[in-house]
Amino acid sequence: MTRTLAEVGAKAADCTRCRLAQGRTQVVFGVGDPAADLVFIGEGPGFHEDRQGEPFVGAAGHLLTRMLGEIGLTREQVYICNVVLCRPPGNRDPRPDEIDSCTPWLVEQLSLIQPLVVVTLGNFATRFVLTTQTGITRLRGKVHDWHGRKVIPTFHPAAILHGGGERSRQFELLREDFRLVGATLDELTRAAGESPESPESPTGPVAVPDLEIDQMELF
Ligand code: URA
Repeated sequence: MTRTLAEVGAKAADCTRCRLAQGRTQVVFGVGDPAADLVFIGEGPGFHEDRQGEPFVGAAGHLLTRMLGEIGLTREQVYICNVVLCRPPGNRDPRPDEIDSCTPWLVEQLSLIQPLVVVTLGNFATRFVLTTQTGITRLRGKVHDWHGRKVIPTFHPAAILHGGGERSRQFELLREDFRLVGATLDELTRAAGESPESPESPTGPVAVPDLEIDQMELF
């Protein structure tokens, strides 16, 4: 039987599938609209996320929230999650076996939400989702096909903050990518609203095939 997102979150809250369970304050499950058309995927919780139990609430999160605002969206209108649910010690990259253990949680979230567009934030999430070794600089700025959906990779907001900040070329490119996200989402929601399956209701259920991610395809 299919679980609701809230049920999955409750179950994940006491996950002990990998060693990250030992060092965490709490599991940081995704937040936002359970029926969001747009999902953001980061790497893993940092210090503030671990303390507050919510993804992207530190400085990088503030930048993400601001960029969402620039395309007319709030955090509540999208869904925000990470490749791993628990903070890796010292903010190191998650290890392959930790990702293996955590992937079913991400797959279940995405399968329940059925987003039209997934934005991967930074190299880590992008390489993981698109199963590629190609770097973010070459993948960003484009819309990639993925399981009948779209993936738009962009820089991790923390990379902007640790790099050149607001005056940097990277920040300009991040802005461009968010505009691409907004335009792609508009186009897809309009197309779905105009499809024969829901002719009378442009804001009604979006007619798209079910997203059933074969876990192996994520590697
Ligand atoms: N960086 C991430 O990748 N995820 C968070 O939730 C916060 C910072």
